[in-house]
Amino acid sequence: MDVLDELRPWQEELRGQFPLITANPDVAYLDSAATSQKPKAVLDAVLTYLTTGNANAARGTYPWANRTTTRIEQARDRLRRFLDDPAPERSGVHFVSGTTEGLRAIARDWLLPQLRDGDDIVVPFADHAANNAPWLETAELLRHQGISVNVRPMPYDAAHDYDIDRLTALVSDRTRLIAATHVHHVYGNDMNVHRLRGVAGPAVPICLDAAQGVGHLPLSTAATDVDFVVFSGHKAMALPGTGAIWARNQRGPTYAPAGWSGSPNTSGIISLVAALDWLDAADMDRIARWNTALGARLTDGLRTLSSFEVLGCQSSLATDSPVQQRQGIVAFRHRVIGSNDLGFILAAHGLMVRADGHCQGDQGEKAASVRVSLHVYNTVEEVDRLLAVLGELDHD
Ligand code: PLP
Repeated sequence: MDVLDELRPWQEELRGQFPLITANPDVAYLDSAATSQKPKAVLDAVLTYLTTGNANAARGTYPWANRTTTRIEQARDRLRRFLDDPAPERSGVHFVSGTTEGLRAIARDWLLPQLRDGDDIVVPFADHAANNAPWLETAELLRHQGISVNVRPMPYDAAHDYDIDRLTALVSDRTRLIAATHVHHVYGNDMNVHRLRGVAGPAVPICLDAAQGVGHLPLSTAATDVDFVVFSGHKAMALPGTGAIWARNQRGPTYAPAGWSGSPNTSGIISLVAALDWLDAADMDRIARWNTALGARLTDGLRTLSSFEVLGCQSSLATDSPVQQRQGIVAFRHRVIGSNDLGFILAAHGLMVRADGHCQGDQGEKAASVRVSLHVYNTVEEVDRLLAVLGELDHD
């Protein structure tokens, strides 16, 4: 049976748990890579917290404050379990506002003090700018102090995956960090980061931008030997302004930014715990299979329309592929109609997509595109509706 048929009853049940989605059956939200919608369980958890025990953490002597502090400590353990942490007694979890802040904090607080003249760092210039800027800023800061750090561009192959052979040739005993991405935010492909440890060897730290991975497909830090996982909770069903850094603390100095610096985003962290509970209960494997199958349906449909060009991997990635190269992100252009115009046309049909350059780094796409990003609340009918509108714009 087709994956979409097999999972449909499960998916319909889950879709019904998203109040904003069910209240708006006439529109299709197709921009989950920007931020996800929130299930009722997450909204309820926040409302319950705010109406029964809202207080600041790590500052009070009274029950609401103490309970909040405990819940935030517990949230760290919850994330460790979600990421299948093999050594929770050693790892660190730090809450941030999102991936941008998380990567910047690692660059500033952990990487910068270790860098010496002549060291190398590998930066993925065709990935999200949030995974370029902090590393470049660090090198620039050090340059002003007379310390020269070589920024080595991550090599890519023709399918926009990391080029493992060329990366192997690049890594040396001066490499201090490889910055990588779990799932590409424009091409939607799984960047197969499990291969990176073999290239990096036992000593080189790897920092993973998992903004489009966590909450979309399973990620086991026991199976994937990276040193940092950084993600945005708001793209994984939690509230805006939430995200986290997970640090393995096995290579280089322990990552230990000043503990409780400032008031934490208590309700955001509580929403993240509820989101992780919800995702685990929904089943991360199934979520990944659903999103991949929907993405494949869209890719296949677009390839029958000659006016459209799909960016990145061209194959439909058969929905039963064990490789799961493309997740639920598909970017495309019309050969004549500009992408921004296309975005407005789709919006007029109730199809909410993103149309711009998608914050890609310096080696990214030069022209704007339309990006459709799917999540578990999206349906086959929504994808087909989008394809029908695009079909009207297909002119030979
Ligand atoms: N990295 C990737 C791959 C992303 O897709 C995004 C957001 O779109 C970011 C980083 C930045 O995330 P945030 O805006 O939550 O900091």
